[in-house]
Amino acid sequence: AALDRIDTLEPHLKSFLSVTADHALAQAKQIDQKIAAGEEIGLLAGIPVGIKDNLSTKGIPTTCGSKILENFVPPYESTVTQKLQAAGAIMVGKTNLDEFAMGSSTENSAYQLTANPWDLERVPGGSSGGSAAAVAAEECVVALGSDTGGSIRQPASFCGVVGMKPTYGLVSRYGLVAYASSLDQIGPFGRTVEDAAILLGEIAGYDPRDSTSLKVEIPDYRQFLKPDLKGKTVGVITETLGEGLDESVAQAVQAAIAQLQDLGAAVQEISCPRFRYGLPTYYIIAPSEASANLARYDGVRYGYRAKNPEDLLQMYCETRSQGFGAEVKRRIMIGTYALSAGYYDAYYLKAQKVRTLIKQDFERAFESVDVLVCPTCPTTAFKAGEKTADPLSMYLSDLMTIPVNLAGLPGLSLPCGFDPQGLPIGLQLIGDVLREDNVLHVAYAYE
Ligand code: GLN
Repeated sequence: AALDRIDTLEPHLKSFLSVTADHALAQAKQIDQKIAAGEEIGLLAGIPVGIKDNLSTKGIPTTCGSKILENFVPPYESTVTQKLQAAGAIMVGKTNLDEFAMGSSTENSAYQLTANPWDLERVPGGSSGGSAAAVAAEECVVALGSDTGGSIRQPASFCGVVGMKPTYGLVSRYGLVAYASSLDQIGPFGRTVEDAAILLGEIAGYDPRDSTSLKVEIPDYRQFLKPDLKGKTVGVITETLGEGLDESVAQAVQAAIAQLQDLGAAVQEISCPRFRYGLPTYYIIAPSEASANLARYDGVRYGYRAKNPEDLLQMYCETRSQGFGAEVKRRIMIGTYALSAGYYDAYYLKAQKVRTLIKQDFERAFESVDVLVCPTCPTTAFKAGEKTADPLSMYLSDLMTIPVNLAGLPGLSLPCGFDPQGLPIGLQLIGDVLREDNVLHVAYAYE
């Protein structure tokens, strides 16, 4: 059914870079055989999933939305996809994304534009736009994305689905193509909080192959899904409800806060004064890490290599000039500049210090509340092409999601209404380190 749905919708949506139909049917057959033999099947047995195309899948092309990895077929499987396979999930395809997960609209993909299922002229958000659109359009039941500065939560908000970025280190990054390693986290998309909670439970857990992986017990997250909020305290981040917010977003979020109160939560305002430095801090740290991580695409080890170079240097230069798109080049240049001798202290080191201050704002907030709430994004989905000429206005889309990555906290976006044009609005819930339980509890009760 999922493959049929994909067949019908893909000409309009283009959520998938590759549809792995043969692979999916073979996996499904294996599960049928297990059932026939009376063997145990996993919690996700038979569930069609979409996988963002920056997750390594053995024997299946993994492009990261980049020309430079056009013909790259990984020789190994990422930990998360391995875990999903073990749980019986069926991968139906690899989803579209902004090149190397750099973007907020999926327009930076070297291959195709993905449409927002609510309005085909609009973007699905990004960078995990393909995963969000595929789940919203029911091309698959759940999907995986990655979130460095908002790439799961912002597209979830634009497409009217649930998307969660877990605590940094909760989910193994082994096999996730690195963008900014100190910020990257893999997380689930679902149409309900329960689906997202189930998927999170299946992908989380310690992995010796990721040195930043946390050694913690993974609970069954479903136990936290309770209908009322008595005894919970919710903090509204004052700084997020001011200027620059769409009127309809402000109204929907205020209504959601009132509903949380009706459900029994105590609501208070909380100030995070350094929250607003998140965006400039991120745009030093993320490109710096990216410039180092992307040095490996040199035409020797992976994917694309420029034709007929005269010497080694020319081969490097032409491979990278032809293989990378404009946004990736912009970030490599910013990052290389910020890390260069003489500028390191002024930019990179300063950004790291501000990152600590942002984290301290959150720490102070979580002394008095269980969960913080704010809009996921200042606007609803914008039209394709609307922001491509102005990178800064595109960057502003992640104003409210980025601080969460800088602090390593869990964050979730879930639908909280529609704007006058019928486009979904997202509510963001933020928890303290490893307090996915609180985030999922509040999200479930609200939903
Ligand atoms: N939109 C942000 C960026 O362009 C975040 C991307 C992400 O989370 N991968 O970097």
